Amino acid sequence: MRSLRFRLLCLVLAGGLFAPFAHSTRADEINHRLDIYFIDVEGGAATLLVTPEGESVLMDSGYPDNGYRDRDRILKTLRDAGRKQLDHAVVSHWHLDHFGNHAALASEIPIRNFWDRGIPDTLMEDAQFPEKAARYRAAAQNRSRTLKVGDTLPLKAGGTPLTVKVATASRDVLPNSGPANPHAAVHKPQADDPSDNAASVSLWLKFGDFSFLCCGDLTWNVEAKLVTPNNPLGQIELFMVTHHGLNVSNNPALVWAIDPRVTVMCNGPTKGGAKETQETLRKVKSLQAAFQLHRNVQLADGEQTPAEFIANGGQTEGCQGRLIKASIAPDGKSYTVQVGLDGKPHAFNCRPAK
Ligand SMILES: [Zn+2]
Repeated sequence: MRSLRFRLLCLVLAGGLFAPFAHSTRADEINHRLDIYFIDVEGGAATLLVTPEGESVLMDSGYPDNGYRDRDRILKTLRDAGRKQLDHAVVSHWHLDHFGNHAALASEIPIRNFWDRGIPDTLMEDAQFPEKAARYRAAAQNRSRTLKVGDTLPLKAGGTPLTVKVATASRDVLPNSGPANPHAAVHKPQADDPSDNAASVSLWLKFGDFSFLCCGDLTWNVEAKLVTPNNPLGQIELFMVTHHGLNVSNNPALVWAIDPRVTVMCNGPTKGGAKETQETLRKVKSLQAAFQLHRNVQLADGEQTPAEFIANGGQTEGCQGRLIKASIAPDGKSYTVQVGLDGKPHAFNCRPAK
C-alpha cells in the first residue's frame, strides 16, 4: 500500500512540475498568448517569438565574442520563457551582429530547424565569411533551409490564426499587390546597396488583428520596391524599426505606409537610432509609442523617445541588457509592450485587420 508520505511526495513533485506554468511569462501554451522578446544585444538583433502553442522562433542571434554576452542573454530569455529548445532559428542576413551566436547556441540547446536566405560561398564585405559559414553549417548539420519570398514558417495552428510569411529575401519582394501607397512619391532612391543588408529576410507575422514586421537590416531601395507603388502589407501594428534605426533604412515610403501603432528599435548606445529615422517615426500618423533598447547617447533627450520607453540608458560597458517584451492577447485583438520583464505594461488595441 502506498504510504501517506509517498502520496505527499507525489503531490510536492507534481506541484514542482506544474508550478512554472503558473507564471504568466512561462505559459504561452497554457494562456495562449503570443510573446515577442526584443533581446538587448548592444546594437545587433535577437528577437524571440513564443507562439500561443508554445513554439519558439528566434530571428537573429546578436554578436559573437564579448564573453558570450549575447548568447547568454538569449539563453536567459529562453529560460525565463520556459523554453528548453529552440524550434526555429532564422538568420535575416549574413552579418555577424545577426548570426553571431547561431553556432554557439546550438552547443547549448537543441535547435530543431535552421532557416536563412541561402548561404553564399563568399561575401564581398567579409573576407572571413567562408569560415564563419562553415561553423554555421556544422551547427545546422548541413540541414539549414532556404527561405524564399512568400514562404511561411511551419507553425502549429491554435484558435486564432497565426502566420509568419517571408516578405523579402535575397532582394526579392512580395508581388506588388494591394491598395496604392499614398506615400510612394516620398521615395528618393539612394545609391544601390551591394551589401548583404539589402538581401535581408523580412518576416511578416499576422495573429488575428495583430501584425508584426521585422525586416532585419533591409535597406532603402528594397524597402521601396516592397511597398511602391502599391502596399501589399497594409497597416502593421508593431514594427521593429529596421537596421537598428540607421538612416540608410527606414524609408518613409515604407514606414508611413505601414503606419505602425508601436515601434521597437534595436539600437545600441552609439549604433543606430539616427536623427532622420527618429523624425520619420515622429511623423507616423497612428504612432502611440516608440520603444528603444538603448538611449542614443549622441542625441539630445528631445531628439529621441521619452526615457520611460528606453530599456537601457547608458553605455554598453556595465549595461544590464534589459529587454523589451510585447505580449499579444489570445484573440489577437490587443497587446501590451513593456520595458524589462518587470516593467509597466503599456496597453494597445489592434485596428481591425483588413
Ligand atoms: Zn545589423
